Amino acid sequence: MSQNTLFDKVWDLHNVADLPGGSSQLFIGLHLIHEVTSPQAFGALKDKNLKVKFPSRTVATVDHIVPTDNQTRPFKDNLAEQMIDTLERNCSTHKIKFFNIGSGSQGIVHVVAPELGLTQPGMTIACGDSHTSTHGAFGSIAFGIGTSQVRDVLASQTLAMNKLKVRQVFCKNKLSQGVFAKDLVLHIINKLGVKAGVGFAYEFAGPAIHNLSMEERMTICNMSIEGGARCGYINPDQKTFDYIKNRRCSPKQENWPKAVKWWKSLVSDKNAIFDDLCEIDAANVEPTVTWGITPGQSIGVNQKIPQLNELCQEDQFIAKEAYEYMGFEPGQTIKNTPIDVCFIGSCTNGRISDLRVAAKIIQNNKVATNVTAFVVPGSEKVAKEAKREGLDKLFQEAGFQWREPGCSMCLAMNPDKLTGNQVSASSSNRNFKGRQGSPTGRTLLMSPAMVAAAAISGHVCDVREFLKNE
Ligand code: SF4
Repeated sequence: MSQNTLFDKVWDLHNVADLPGGSSQLFIGLHLIHEVTSPQAFGALKDKNLKVKFPSRTVATVDHIVPTDNQTRPFKDNLAEQMIDTLERNCSTHKIKFFNIGSGSQGIVHVVAPELGLTQPGMTIACGDSHTSTHGAFGSIAFGIGTSQVRDVLASQTLAMNKLKVRQVFCKNKLSQGVFAKDLVLHIINKLGVKAGVGFAYEFAGPAIHNLSMEERMTICNMSIEGGARCGYINPDQKTFDYIKNRRCSPKQENWPKAVKWWKSLVSDKNAIFDDLCEIDAANVEPTVTWGITPGQSIGVNQKIPQLNELCQEDQFIAKEAYEYMGFEPGQTIKNTPIDVCFIGSCTNGRISDLRVAAKIIQNNKVATNVTAFVVPGSEKVAKEAKREGLDKLFQEAGFQWREPGCSMCLAMNPDKLTGNQVSASSSNRNFKGRQGSPTGRTLLMSPAMVAAAAISGHVCDVREFLKNE
């Protein structure tokens, strides 16, 4: 009886050749490209007089550098204009489908591909962006790659890689009310550590995972990279199939039942053998907030920032750096920390369900006077749906700035940046030093619901207090 994981099955199906030295030449089913990591790769192809091997398996959008206040061309920022112009020319030269601004499908690459039904179970997906792991929510094996690998995939549609080990992260029980996928994944990273996943693919499993919506599953897989895993995935189920059905690029007519049958066959076998197993109790997860400079430095909102002697030796060095940078004292509570900026967006939490949850908290409330708050939809489709539901007005009436789709303040490669040592409550995925555009800016990661609650209160608070009467 077969004892394979989904990872093993998908890897073996895409293994074109075993390379000298032990790595594999892996066929990439879908290559997603954007303006930041593709120009040099296209340049290298041009230098060698090569063509894109499978333009139909390559899809482009623009996300990192787009301004979110005014997207009229040419952009005010010359470098941003140059980057979008280069991508337009490369896509046109190589006949690559490009979802540009105004196409109705532009947005953050990891939001756009699932929306279009491009992301499907059993695929290998690569993109020049770390958070490509997002697509694993559908039971695909999805890797973030560097610029030289973008070049390799453009030229050959393959990638040289060492096979990963697989750790199953089994999440038992259920999340309680007011606790979301973001809290769960921050909790997992805190428990396992930011380097624990090195050399691994994470299979997220258990009732707490299968209770999540597809959008919440994307949040989990999106952040598997923050736990060091090269990719994360969830076995596809009926929710996965229902999400994909009837999307623009999903299999149609007689191909649909064939696809579902095949997708079901890829699920990890009942007695699959994992290289490692760990268990997380979802019932113990609280709304979670980061206090430090890695996504692993987090606590429940009602807990205290750890003292040095409560941490293992390995974590103490980075903790000292974090106390100093963040301006926190060991043993201090995170609750009531004043907030300057609130950001709801990113490929982690800029989807329609995230905006709906945040809007519920915001309703009939106003943003605190000390806070500047932004909502940046993950894609044009998210923005359109939010407007149809009146969420844009609701946010604006509460005092949020409603912006155009893009990565925005997740990475601040566009004009949306923190200034000075502002403290930001952010629904994004990284709290590294300077991540949100100011070298001294401080980021507290949390769920979009927690960001919304912080926007109203003006400080970190427990979102469950806003949900008491529900
Ligand atoms: S939203 Fe952030 S993490 Fe996601 S693709 Fe953009 S910059 Fe990268």
